[in-house]
Amino acid sequence: MRTLDGSTGEGGGQILRTSLALAMVTGQPFRIHSIRARRARPGLMRQHLCAVRAAAEVSGAELSGDAVGSTELTFRPGRVRPGAYTFSIGTAGSATLVLQTVLPALLVAEGGSSIVIEGGTHNPMAPPFDFIERAFLPLLRRMGARVSAALSSYGFYPAGGGRVEVTIEGGSKLGRLSLLERGALRSTRLRAIVSQLPGAIGVREVDAFLAEVPWDRACARPEVVKGGAGPGNALVADVEHEHVTEVFTGIGERGVRAETVAARVAAEVKRYLASEVPVGEHLADQLLLPMALGEGGEFRTFAPSGHTKTQAEIIGVFLDAKIAMEARAEEDVRVEVKGVRG
Ligand code: ATP
Repeated sequence: MRTLDGSTGEGGGQILRTSLALAMVTGQPFRIHSIRARRARPGLMRQHLCAVRAAAEVSGAELSGDAVGSTELTFRPGRVRPGAYTFSIGTAGSATLVLQTVLPALLVAEGGSSIVIEGGTHNPMAPPFDFIERAFLPLLRRMGARVSAALSSYGFYPAGGGRVEVTIEGGSKLGRLSLLERGALRSTRLRAIVSQLPGAIGVREVDAFLAEVPWDRACARPEVVKGGAGPGNALVADVEHEHVTEVFTGIGERGVRAETVAARVAAEVKRYLASEVPVGEHLADQLLLPMALGEGGEFRTFAPSGHTKTQAEIIGVFLDAKIAMEARAEEDVRVEVKGVRG
């Protein structure tokens, strides 16, 4: 059985989620030790455990070490069973990271699935729902996947209570993706989402963002939303080009000024707009796995993050796929993926 060291590279939960996803797809069992060894609170937290249990349920896996705080886990997948599933994280653990774990196997397995995930939909350090909906899934569909996602309730950190519904047709033969140019700028959009907090927070975020990035005020709006178990705020900026849409997000936190949240998002948007690369930092690490499972392809992105490098490493452990990165300039790297169907 494969043994993985959870402290390698980035040393966070990504190694675990990617290993689970690839074990499900390939049917290969694995053991992982030193789980999240480089995090302040190492071991499985509730949201990681939910990802482990979700992966086990979908693939009929045998598990050992599946407890909160555990730093070792053994996962022996059985056959992937598409179908209807509900996964409840219980806290504001990220719903989209649970999706990231089970989606690859359900995409390629024969048969349709409908998944409901309850938890956080707009969390720090995780893909917000908007990113999944408008940046990630459209590219998966371009590769041939038949998958869609809907948000039926917002869930913010720390209370959670959000709900995401995902429909997957299954049987996808993932085709080649080539994203070397972004094409012409088509539209920009800014939403300051506020739940159970003063609406003025959204207004301040919009004003502070527009002071940094000269977008038309007509495409920027503060929005008070309902649902969710507690208060929360997210500032979401969409940049749509001809060939790719990127979504940049800042999550409001207690003790962090609205202007600071706006300045962080503005900095990410400015970095992207000042460059020519089509694929931003987060899309880069998330595209590698579906590309490696399919016919591969290529894209241009910024200098690879720790996540992207770790992702490439773990993919190489489970799949006969090749990922090469060649820097054309410091912030312009060409990533080439030779996929298993490629
Ligand atoms: P942990 O050990 O706490 O689970 P981790 O290091 O494994 O953390 P994160 O840093 O939380 O993982 O990132 C997990 C995933 O979330 C990565 O795929 C990353 O690209 C994605 N992600 C983080 N922030 C954003 C964002 N703002 N937009 C889109 N994706 C994001």
